[in-house]
Amino acid sequence: MTVRACDVLIIGGGIAGISVASELAGAGVDVVLVDGLSLGEGSSGKNAGGVRQQFSEETNIRAGIDSLKRIDGFRQETGIDIAFRKVGYLFLAATPEQGAILERAVRLQNRFGIRTRMVAPGEMDAIVPGMRTDDVLIGSFGPDDGYIDPKKLIHAFARLAREKGAEIVERCPVTSIRIAGNRIVEVVAGARRFAPAAVVNAAGVWAPRIARMIGADLPITSRRSNLWVARPADINPGEWIPQVIDVETRVFFHSEIGGDGSLVFGVGGAELVPDDPNIPCNWDKLPDGLKRLGNRMPRFAGAEITRGWAGLVEATPDDNPIVGWTFLDNFYTNAGFSGHGMGVAPGLAVQVAKELRGIATDYSLEAFRFERLEKDLVKGEDLFGVSVNAKAAGI
Ligand SMILES: Cc1cc2nc3c(=O)[nH]c(=O)nc-3n(C[C@H](O)[C@H](O)[C@H](O)COP(=O)(O)OP(=O)(O)OC[C@H]3O[C@@H](n4cnc5c(N)ncnc54)[C@H](O)[C@@H]3O)c2cc1C
Repeated sequence: MTVRACDVLIIGGGIAGISVASELAGAGVDVVLVDGLSLGEGSSGKNAGGVRQQFSEETNIRAGIDSLKRIDGFRQETGIDIAFRKVGYLFLAATPEQGAILERAVRLQNRFGIRTRMVAPGEMDAIVPGMRTDDVLIGSFGPDDGYIDPKKLIHAFARLAREKGAEIVERCPVTSIRIAGNRIVEVVAGARRFAPAAVVNAAGVWAPRIARMIGADLPITSRRSNLWVARPADINPGEWIPQVIDVETRVFFHSEIGGDGSLVFGVGGAELVPDDPNIPCNWDKLPDGLKRLGNRMPRFAGAEITRGWAGLVEATPDDNPIVGWTFLDNFYTNAGFSGHGMGVAPGLAVQVAKELRGIATDYSLEAFRFERLEKDLVKGEDLFGVSVNAKAAGI
């Protein structure tokens, strides 16, 4: 069997891998991406598609800014429609403590030029008509955030990557990695063999399995997140409800991407589950989820549920990804986006591609380094992080 030499071999064709493949190919790097399933069949094709710049941690904010810039200009730049609905993102706080977190985050976001602002309950009806706000203390609204069709974004990046020369191989699972000295010298994937100068572990919730192939351990856990589509009796097609995150009750929702007036919704606080890519929806959680949705959006209290599915969220202990050279001289990790990969990974890909090419990044990635977890230098992402939510839900 011939061995395919390349500059960079990326393992995983979700948003983390495919956006880096596109960046590297654009810079003339000989890049191969392998995925054990098909592109976007992991978490990236199953999520809610929310993209935001509203974070509490500076690195996430900077990556979020670059992601949104890219997403907003995608159609003009490439001619590809990724169904970006730029209708905003609203966080709701019920307690002074939650309000203080939002306020601190907005101040930081504003320093980077993001147009987020605090909003009083009285102003919210103009943003989300018909939403109940009598138990809301304050909120923060980002008018330039929104949501996309996640599968369209994945396939758009794949098209760009291929056009610029990347080789993308689907149904090609990595099964073993050979090391000599402190370097990976060969990767076996499906019926193929690769001799890459560098390897990127972008296998999402399965990244710990890849790390184990080199005898290392990554603290990324697998959590199930359920999503449902609710169609009310008085359907209002063409209504675009922003992404709403209710911090106290953990319910989140936004209009269905097709614009038929349905809402996509779920409840934060994902349960620990095995990393089965075909994880089924936990329908037992629906009555509670629908109650929380109806409490916030009374029009949807008795809505028909037309669809439900689940995906795996790849959570780190502090809800920030693990990014950088890890364990070996040529093994790079880009995984653990903890429920906000669609919004963070595309922007961050620019910096990851720079590091892989030996170029200095535009901003520090220290908050995302593996070593922070080892040294307990953990500064968590306060705004709706998966682990933070799980703790709040007592899971
Ligand atoms: C229900 C739900 C809702 C979410 N909502 C949002 C949201 O609104 N906004 C947001 O930003 N994020 C959201 N997320 C999180 C987001 O989906 C993830 O952060 C993101 O998709 C992670 O991307 P990834 O590329 O790291 O992983 P993945 O998309 O899982 O990609 C990893 C890939 O690696 C491949 N792989 C695994 N093992 C191997 C192997 N041995 N060899 C080769 N390939 C392998 C897999 O097949 C997979 O395609 C949500 C997640 C879920 C589940």
